[in-house]
Amino acid sequence: MLALAMRENSSQLVPINDSGRQSSKCLFGLDADALAACMVEAGEPAWRGRQLAEALYRQRIAELDAITTLPKALRQRLATEGWQVGRPAITQVFQSADGTERYLVEGQSGDGLTVETVWMPEGDDGEIGDGSDGEIPQTPDAPGPDYRSWETSEPSPTQKPAHRATICVSSQVGCAVNCDFCLTARLGLQRNLTVGEIAGQVLAVFDRHAVEVGRDRVNLVFMGMGEPFLNYDNFMGAVRLLMREVGLSPQRMTVSTSGIVPGIERFAAEPPEFRPKLAISLNAPNDAIRSQIMPINRKWPIAAVIDAVRQVKLRPRERITFEYVLLGGVTDRPKDAVEVARLISRTGLAAKVNLIAWNPGPGIEYQTPKPEAVETFRRTLTDAGIPAYVRKPRGRDIYAACGQLKRTMEG
Ligand code: SAH
Ligand code: SF4
Repeated sequence: MLALAMRENSSQLVPINDSGRQSSKCLFGLDADALAACMVEAGEPAWRGRQLAEALYRQRIAELDAITTLPKALRQRLATEGWQVGRPAITQVFQSADGTERYLVEGQSGDGLTVETVWMPEGDDGEIGDGSDGEIPQTPDAPGPDYRSWETSEPSPTQKPAHRATICVSSQVGCAVNCDFCLTARLGLQRNLTVGEIAGQVLAVFDRHAVEVGRDRVNLVFMGMGEPFLNYDNFMGAVRLLMREVGLSPQRMTVSTSGIVPGIERFAAEPPEFRPKLAISLNAPNDAIRSQIMPINRKWPIAAVIDAVRQVKLRPRERITFEYVLLGGVTDRPKDAVEVARLISRTGLAAKVNLIAWNPGPGIEYQTPKPEAVETFRRTLTDAGIPAYVRKPRGRDIYAACGQLKRTMEG
């Protein structure tokens, strides 16, 4: 959560992000309670906070002066005190032949750094078989744990057809984990994103595609730039904001981690109805190969990761997803598939595997696997009783596919 600190000798509330660096005074990213505190501080009644939350997260108003539910004088006063909505904005769009769009999104901190967000119409099949298909509704006006009551009516024939899409969201600028096959790793970690910067990517893309919460079926995957579990508080703060204030179901959200054990343990302690689904980037059949391609494995080897995952209490029908990037000749061999099948079976977890053919990036010396190798790998897993799906590569031509996010400027 974004911490609020009071400045001495001042009536202003100053938002501070978790790195201790003061960000500009952005309302976007504060939840209704924090906004209420902010209003009280400004000498206004607390219910103005709820009004502000409605404006920012339901009506998606991006300019302070356009929030007409607040009296003009109050808007002016807030502006004079330096407050702004400060919602992240899309600054550049790359369009793929397959309909995927990749965006550069500018943050709140005024440091000019951008992150990448990807819109995949029809998704990439990543959510198949993880227990969420079809049954998760979203509604704008009934936040709370019982998302089953949120099923909304079919759109009338006059309405535009509902979206089915997936948005891939970033959690950090760059990444410190340094996986050998990933383009984002080449940036190193530049900084953590704030709550507002994580949630703001989603609302900026919602606006661009006129997404209607409660009608459109949009999945969120926290699989963009960065390691969400190394920015845990802001990542979960954004999830809570998107749930409580925007009205999205956490069962339509999936977070992927490279296996940060303390993060998985914290995640396991979250109430199941308030957390996204979990995906673990396994990527290798054993510790020897995993340590080679993911140095983080030396700190938290496979068994430690699995032990932590076991603490996560699954919802009915929910499965843990293991992601597995197929590197030609390195992790895609038939014997690797046999070993992965054995490893996953032995965990006894309700699991599925998402196979991702490695997407190339400049300066990275791996091979894309042959289609036959991908199919053989998938068959070996399904023959062993493990549901396995091949993720569709989306937007490879614009560097929008998994592991290709590095703020490349080429369209
Ligand atoms: N940092 C998190 C989430 C972002 S990466 C994690 O690693 O899980 C999202 C997924 O993309 C991970 O499963 C990762 O293994 C995969 N990935 C990274 N680089 C890739 C590449 N070049 N081709 C295909 N998948 C890649
Ligand atoms: Fe970071 Fe994930 Fe890329 Fe590894 S695969 S470097 S954890 S973004």
